[in-house]
Amino acid sequence: MSGGGDDRHLKPATRLVRGGRRPEWTGPVVNPPVWRASTHLYASDAERQAAGRNNADGQFFYGRRGAPTQWALADALTAIEPGAYGTVLYPSGVAAIAGVMLSVMKPGERVLMTDNAYDPTRSMASGLLARLGVETTFFDPRDVDGFRAAVAGAKGVWLEAPGSLTFEMCDVPLLAGIARAAGAAVMLDNTWASPLGFAGLEHGCDIVMMSLSKHVGGHSDLMMGSASAGKRWYGMLRRVSHELGQVVSPDDAALAARGLRTMGVRLAAQTAAAKRVAAWLEGQPQVAQVLCPLLPSDPGHALWTRDFTGGCGLFSFVLASDDPAASARVADALELFGIGYSWGGYESLALPIRPEDYRSCMPGTGGAPALRLSIGLEDAEDLIADLGQALALV
Ligand SMILES: *Cc1c(COP(=O)(O)O)cnc(C)c1O
Repeated sequence: MSGGGDDRHLKPATRLVRGGRRPEWTGPVVNPPVWRASTHLYASDAERQAAGRNNADGQFFYGRRGAPTQWALADALTAIEPGAYGTVLYPSGVAAIAGVMLSVMKPGERVLMTDNAYDPTRSMASGLLARLGVETTFFDPRDVDGFRAAVAGAKGVWLEAPGSLTFEMCDVPLLAGIARAAGAAVMLDNTWASPLGFAGLEHGCDIVMMSLSKHVGGHSDLMMGSASAGKRWYGMLRRVSHELGQVVSPDDAALAARGLRTMGVRLAAQTAAAKRVAAWLEGQPQVAQVLCPLLPSDPGHALWTRDFTGGCGLFSFVLASDDPAASARVADALELFGIGYSWGGYESLALPIRPEDYRSCMPGTGGAPALRLSIGLEDAEDLIADLGQALALV
């Protein structure tokens, strides 16, 4: 769905509230109703034929092209993504990654992928993309000279900042500038920061995707993904998503739109709590290192401060113990943190991690036991006390 409305001059919090609520979609109520629709009826056969020829956004055609509920969510996401012409919705974040990759990459071409990319993105590179004849080279995003050498001849670059599990930052505008000068399209997984924390298109990226299952949903009850881009790449994303038959349910779209309205306050609260918990962890004798660009001591903090306008509640820490089972002991002892995948919900989660299992040229934690935390909306003091009693067992 292209659009985004005329709210570009308004601040992000205001756009978050107003986005997608066009009167023709909402009628007399606040939120766009749930339109469950496969068949759209036409007033005449001439109208049906005109709709087919026109193939425009925001026009009824057939359920696979959505209805106002999905259009409203996509429109709201475009409204909060500076530089976006349109947004495509996918049934999961991984489906969005596939939609982006298949829109950009062709057989015989090479994509450069940041080594700390989300694990399923790496699996897609070695699986689906390899089978389609797309070659992948992994790179350390902190090694700019290495990147400059590797990008020659590549048609696409996949970035993620900060990276999954270990949260190394990279210089997105610098890498994107080098990539574009070399003729490569720049794709960014912006799930961690969301457009509220990082305006990817304005920092040199061509396509920005995110998993809506995390911050946008925000309540651990929905799977969805999105990709936003300027006019040229939006057209390709839309075309490929139609060719692949990608569609999201109107019920889930309504749920995601509902989550979106409070994403700003949730992210602000979770970022503030994460900063407190991370700073406390840094002072504990059982903790060797905290991997969190929100902390002034983190090597990525300067880039995060320069380029980002926000963060989130997701970071990791490395235990000082050399017992590989120590991370599971801590996770099991935590009472306020659930053990589980996904993140960005209102409830805190803890996950023992082994990032080196998903790396080709970066060290991960070098085998040291580590945990990833997703800080929810509980009181940070309670979370710190819980971590304190669990760490005492290491
Ligand atoms: C979770 C996640 C995804 C995938 O999203 P799903 O909605 O779970 O498919 C993509 N990128 C990152 C960084 C993620 O954490």
